[in-house]
Amino acid sequence: MKHLVLIGAAGSGKGTQAARLVSDKGYKHISTGDLLRNEISKGSELGKKVKSVMDSGALVSDELVIELIHANANLDKNSYVFDGYPRNLVQAQTLDKEVLKGRPSLAVYFKIDLGKLVTRLTNRRTCKDCGAIYNLLTQAPKKAGICDKCGSTNLVHREDDKEEAIKKRLDIFQQNTQPVLDHYQSSGRLLEVNAEAPIDSVFKQILGQI
Ligand code: AMP
Repeated sequence: MKHLVLIGAAGSGKGTQAARLVSDKGYKHISTGDLLRNEISKGSELGKKVKSVMDSGALVSDELVIELIHANANLDKNSYVFDGYPRNLVQAQTLDKEVLKGRPSLAVYFKIDLGKLVTRLTNRRTCKDCGAIYNLLTQAPKKAGICDKCGSTNLVHREDDKEEAIKKRLDIFQQNTQPVLDHYQSSGRLLEVNAEAPIDSVFKQILGQI
C-alpha cells in the first residue's frame, strides 16, 4: 500500500478518514497534532515548550515536528497515514527526502469551503482518552458527554477549536497549502477529494486510489 499524506484544513475530515484507513486497511496513523498533544498531557519538556504556541493556533517549528516523525515512524515495517503533516513546503520536501526516500506515496487533498469549517470546529468534541472525534450537530456521541468507543467522560472542546484560534489556523492553512499541493501535483501524486461529501463516499474515493 502507498503511504498516504492527508492534506486539509482543520475540520475537513482528515482524522475521521485516517481512523477508517486504520481500522479497515491496517494503516498506521501518525498525527503530528496528536503526538504534540500527547507530549503536553505527559507534561514533558517538549510539551511545555509547545503548549502556548498550539493553543494560539500557530505552527510549531519544522525541526521539532520532523524529530517526532523520526521517533514514531518505522517505514520498513508499516504503511502510514500522515495526518496534519506536512503543513508547508519545507515539511513536504523533508518528508520525501528524509522519511519516504522514494517509497510510493499519495497525497489526498480534502477540498472544502473554509467558511463551513468554523461551524464544524466549534461543534467538534474530541475524546481525550482515545482520540475519537465527534460533532455535536452531525455525529454526536450516542449518550451525551460519553465516548462511544471507550466510555470515557473526557470529551473536550480543544482550546484551538475555539473561534479565535480557528481563524488563525485557517489563515495559516491558506497561506501554506498551495505550494504543498503543487509539490504533489507536479510529481503526479495528488488526489483531490470532495470533503463535503458523506464520510463513506470520501472513503471510497480514497480506496479507489491506493
Ligand atoms: P492538528 O491536530 O493537526 O490540527 O494540529 C494542532 C496543532 O499542532 C497545530 O495548530 C500546530 O500548532 C501543531 N502542529 C501539528 N502538526 C504540525 C506540523 N506538521 N507542523 C507544525 N505544527 C504542527
